[in-house]
Amino acid sequence: KISKPDISRAKSTELYNKAKTYFPGGVNSPVRAFKSVYGTPLFIKKGDGAYLWDADDNQFIDFCCSWGPLILGHNHPAIREKVIEVMQNGMSFGAPTALENELAELIISNNPFIEKIRFNSSGTEAVMSAIRLARGYTKRDKILKFEGCYHGHVDALLVKAGSGLVTFGETSSAGVPKAFADETIVVALNDKEALAKAFEDFKDQIAAVIMEPIPANNGLLLQHTEFLQYLREICTANGTLLIFDEVISGFRVGFAGAAGLYQIKPDIITYGKIIGGGLPVGAYGASAQIMSSVSPEGPVYQAGTLSGNPVAMAAGIAQLTELLKPGFYEDQNQRTKDFVNDIVEYASQRNYPLVISRVGSIFWLAFDTNAVIRKAEDIDPKSMDHFKKLHLELLNRGVYMGPSGYEVGFVSAAHTTAILDTAKQAIFESLDVVFSP
Ligand code: PMP
Repeated sequence: KISKPDISRAKSTELYNKAKTYFPGGVNSPVRAFKSVYGTPLFIKKGDGAYLWDADDNQFIDFCCSWGPLILGHNHPAIREKVIEVMQNGMSFGAPTALENELAELIISNNPFIEKIRFNSSGTEAVMSAIRLARGYTKRDKILKFEGCYHGHVDALLVKAGSGLVTFGETSSAGVPKAFADETIVVALNDKEALAKAFEDFKDQIAAVIMEPIPANNGLLLQHTEFLQYLREICTANGTLLIFDEVISGFRVGFAGAAGLYQIKPDIITYGKIIGGGLPVGAYGASAQIMSSVSPEGPVYQAGTLSGNPVAMAAGIAQLTELLKPGFYEDQNQRTKDFVNDIVEYASQRNYPLVISRVGSIFWLAFDTNAVIRKAEDIDPKSMDHFKKLHLELLNRGVYMGPSGYEVGFVSAAHTTAILDTAKQAIFESLDVVFSP
């Protein structure tokens, strides 16, 4: 099978060259630089529904969806109109507004896992604040995280595991003091023994375990419900708070996120992405009792100039209102399931080494294995070469995936069956190019 000719990237290349004079690596967030795939990054000028257009007027079906926030697709009219309406009255006051109450009410009254919430402006901020809250509440310092879970660029969480069952964190970024990383314990996912050993080794020292209950930043490493239940039990038994980082999974796999899906109650939940409808919002929530430790009620300080920003609240309100309509998740999840199943069937009939992990409307293309991958270390790095080739073929056929094989794809409400069928054809052809002899 032959590759399609490459799309034009003339304008994107020109913009990228200019951007490199302004920003480190030409970007304001690293993965955007297309370092793990072919060609210069595409500069986007417009999004509408399931589609993106780049500076060279190439059109794509978008499965990146701004890395997750756009569960309704790009430029959804309900969000756009609400945002414009609210903006007529000014954009920031640094004082409370009714919109904050409205978004909080939408979340809390439809989510049995949290009683109070605090809004801020990003997932990283939400996680950083949740960790401080857990430390303040438990009066302990250590944090346990899992290898392959990403929680934003919080100092103490930018650590990866070394070898061995349990290990102290080793920083994966320059500029993180060793003393900070030393407060972080890293354990492999889906490994009860390693978890139990960490709780033995650091008895009465672990303030919180933080986890993406649906790990979606290093492939999609779906966990056994039983492992999550075990995690809940061991945290409770040790007086350690369980933080579910639901920045991706929150409002994505269901309105009550992964906590709702698995019916496991964490002590603190962090949100981001979908909650802001495409504008910068993060949040953390917990029981009224735990949240009473947060300033000005309690001693854990946390603040923000733009926290609860009215325009961002408006976008969140409009988006979450759509998600609460009957059948929303069933429909989206079913469309994604059918889409994924057809691709898997196409690949398996031809013996292409492709498996797809999926939950709700999140999917991840994994190569080289037929087993379900549940741990970061089980991902064959060679599969990234397959992804790299596939990514180029897909772009040339009008399908945009996040530019790294470790990233998941998202299906939005705007991805109709007809659009998914078109995308599927492009994926079939691209798989043929990459895998057929
Ligand atoms: N937690 C998780 C699970 C995430 O996926 C991300 C971002 N991808 C973050 C935290 C950080 O969020 P932000 O990029 O908004 O700071």
